[in-house]
Amino acid sequence: MTLIDQDKIAYLANVLLIAYADKKISPRESAALEEIRKGIDAKKSHMTSAQKNVEGGSYILTKVGSFADQVRNLEDILFVALMDSDPDEQKEKLIDEFSKEIGIYKDQLDRLMSDTARRCDQADHSLACPACSTAIPTQSRFCPSCGAALTATESPAVQIGFEIPPQGYAIEFCVAL
Ligand SMILES: [Zn+2]
Repeated sequence: MTLIDQDKIAYLANVLLIAYADKKISPRESAALEEIRKGIDAKKSHMTSAQKNVEGGSYILTKVGSFADQVRNLEDILFVALMDSDPDEQKEKLIDEFSKEIGIYKDQLDRLMSDTARRCDQADHSLACPACSTAIPTQSRFCPSCGAALTATESPAVQIGFEIPPQGYAIEFCVAL
């Protein structure tokens, strides 16, 4: 995949928009985001820029690159959406919107969904520590390598101001990217 910097930022912002839809990023989502970032060869600074765009509150899903890139983007969006549990209404709405935008039909989307569910199962067994990227067993509460807390309640959550008009709220972002 050869995306220019701007595309990488938009690609990540699309994924982040879904990840933020329930107002919190779990450690599992953080690990997935990290995997996605590396998958498109994006720098941490790209992720930071994507984060800023989404935090601005007015970011909307944006098509990036070729059709193949867009499908991959959708797959990564699904990956994050399915990471914790079944996507909620807000996430589903965004996924539907994005699928329509790039011309993916419902049956194709369903197929991508089931492929992605399998990918999540595999990721379960090979989660990377969001802090140091060491592969860690899913059920670990702490990273065996760097000691970072991996459960939502014990993570050193960083508050970031993520305002969505009209009612603002802060989300918890559990990892410094
Ligand atoms: Zn670690």
